[in-house]
Amino acid sequence: MEMFIIPLGTCNCPYETVAPGVNDGQLVKLPVPSYLVKLDDGKNLLIDTGMSRLHITDPDATWRGTELAEILVPEMAPEDNLAVRLQELEVRPTDIDYVINTHLHFDHAGNNDLFERAKFFVQREHYDFARGNATFPNQYWNLPKLDYELLDGESELFPGVEVLLTPGHAPAHQSVMVRLQETGNVVVCGDAIYTQENLDFDSWGSQADPETAKISGEKLKRIAVEESATLLFGHDPAQAKQFHRSPQSYR
Ligand SMILES: [Zn+2]
Repeated sequence: MEMFIIPLGTCNCPYETVAPGVNDGQLVKLPVPSYLVKLDDGKNLLIDTGMSRLHITDPDATWRGTELAEILVPEMAPEDNLAVRLQELEVRPTDIDYVINTHLHFDHAGNNDLFERAKFFVQREHYDFARGNATFPNQYWNLPKLDYELLDGESELFPGVEVLLTPGHAPAHQSVMVRLQETGNVVVCGDAIYTQENLDFDSWGSQADPETAKISGEKLKRIAVEESATLLFGHDPAQAKQFHRSPQSYR
């Protein structure tokens, strides 16, 4: 397997929305990634699809006129278009066979509409919660042309790729274990853990269900130890600088 961390711009917001009690009053530019995994059988899997490319020319595309417009401010350059990033890797949207959405927030499912040929994997409980719910902007993912396979719990979807239940950020949020041959195990946390600070400061107050989020965060921490896994946090600016980004990759 080969995995690419694909940068898709930043979402700029107050620190309190990430880790309350750590840097209150400061602004933070949160990196928004997608992950491309080339499976051993040659199929292409994406984990999350980032923020919609509409934000490149219209940062208010999602939240205009809502109270979130001031709090979540997307900043995307032309090359932060997922289709453009994939093109750099000679992958077309029609080459994507599978997509796992950790959850269906606008910064994780924003480009689902690009992948009409793919099968999408989302937890059933999460999908039902997000459908018709304005905090999960449906225009990006609740589309008749897209093929969703709804999951009921944890499973190994492909050899070396497993989904883990990590609720708290949202009902039936899922994280993804990817077992790379040379790099070792990595876990795409999604928003179960936004940044290292959530763990270091035991700060879960910005999550929808803080108590459940703390349990999920501790579960991932335990898995990291037991399985010698590297945790890839959802939106950690410091961590984003540490890791190679596409077109470099991990095997
Ligand atoms: Zn997010």
